[in-house]
Amino acid sequence: MNCEILCVGTELLLGDIINTNAAFLSKELAALGINVFRQTTVGDNAERLKKCLKDALDNNDMVITSGGLGPTYDDLTKETAAALFGTDLVLDEASLTHIEHFFSKTGRKLTDSIKKQAYLPKGAQALPNDCGTAPGIFLEKNGKVLIMLPGPPKELETMFLAYAVPKLSGLTGRTSVSHTLHIFGIGESTAENMLKKMMTEMTNPTVAPYAKTGQVEVRVTAFADSTEQAEDMTRPVINEIIRIIGREYVYGMDIGGLQEALVRRLEKAGLKIATAESLTGGMISKMITEVSGASGVIECGVCSYSNRIKHEILGVSEETLESYTEYSPQTAEEMAEGVRKLSGADIGISTTGIAGPGGGTDEKPVGLVYVGVSSRMGTFSKKLDLSRGLKNERELIRELASLHALSLALKETEKIMAKAKKVKKIIFLI
Ligand code: ATP
Ligand code: MG
Repeated sequence: MNCEILCVGTELLLGDIINTNAAFLSKELAALGINVFRQTTVGDNAERLKKCLKDALDNNDMVITSGGLGPTYDDLTKETAAALFGTDLVLDEASLTHIEHFFSKTGRKLTDSIKKQAYLPKGAQALPNDCGTAPGIFLEKNGKVLIMLPGPPKELETMFLAYAVPKLSGLTGRTSVSHTLHIFGIGESTAENMLKKMMTEMTNPTVAPYAKTGQVEVRVTAFADSTEQAEDMTRPVINEIIRIIGREYVYGMDIGGLQEALVRRLEKAGLKIATAESLTGGMISKMITEVSGASGVIECGVCSYSNRIKHEILGVSEETLESYTEYSPQTAEEMAEGVRKLSGADIGISTTGIAGPGGGTDEKPVGLVYVGVSSRMGTFSKKLDLSRGLKNERELIRELASLHALSLALKETEKIMAKAKKVKKIIFLI
């Protein structure tokens, strides 16, 4: 099945926003085994949109549009599609109820232009919008499939995964199952090289890596006649990927990221954590508290930027700060130990280092970071060199330092659990 992605929006043409929807859809479609032969971007102009849409439908089995489903005068996508197919727009009661509900919940007034969003081309099915009001549209006509999705990325992504993907599986007569392995500690290109053979040679299941800052995700997607069959097909491939990458780097499956893995693991272990952050300035505690259920596992976060606070609140000794400076394994360890004692948490985690751009020396350069860990298993620190030699890498260094701290906290939790014989080596959160 061949597909064209047609993104609608003058903002895209002016360079005011980056076309992340096209990137998202292309990746998702590739993983589903659907060929994307062209991405097109057109402004909010009825004539030009009509021309592009006609051209896309003439040349492909399927077209997916993004944007222009909203209530304003420049939102023209479904009107144009209806005109092209020679159909009217008719009211979809379920979509109207959803919009009414959404508005009553937020206490806003429902206008006619808002109600306009509940009108769909005749014969089309609505794709529910769990993050907004405008429904998406699924239309199968004249041997072609047209899927129209809203522009805001959160709405588009949620809708596509929850409601469009099952329909696409329906079209191919097969169902798909996807699992994502989460990897930390090895770079994207290393992971890609290790998995190259699988990525290029396997067609079902497919293996597709995605890089995030400091992390790699590898998605395995299988197509089969039933979910069970597809599930069975993914299992050996997942095991093989874990074998190739190395167990110690794969921290979970189908979870939101390192912070979610950590919260879930701490919950399971019945353990609590506390953070003492210098260069990360609260980033780690922010990441942990983003996860629902965090209140059960985090005691506190101390943002101890100054040496005075490191000493007075966390109990880092003045001798340590004077003899070794704040950028030292000794300071990191005393910070981790200090916040553990202060809070009564099971695990104390700390960061100290130089995020730059200023403050680096030959001996202690920008990117030098120490992460401290303290628990009943002991106290230790890890030295990291997080500089990639880029011009403005302050944020990157802080983010990487936070990820390393989360990863070390996760490993410490597992160590404590293993000691208590609660788990073997690794648990997958499916
Ligand atoms: P709304 O109901 O918000 O008007 P819509 O479906 O009409 O949604 P647009 O008006 O085209 O969509 O775009 C709304 C917003 O979504 C844009 O201002 C932009 O922030 C974002 N957006 C639109 N298209 C894209 C895209 N291709 N990539 C990333 N963001 C996009
Ligand atoms: Mg709009």
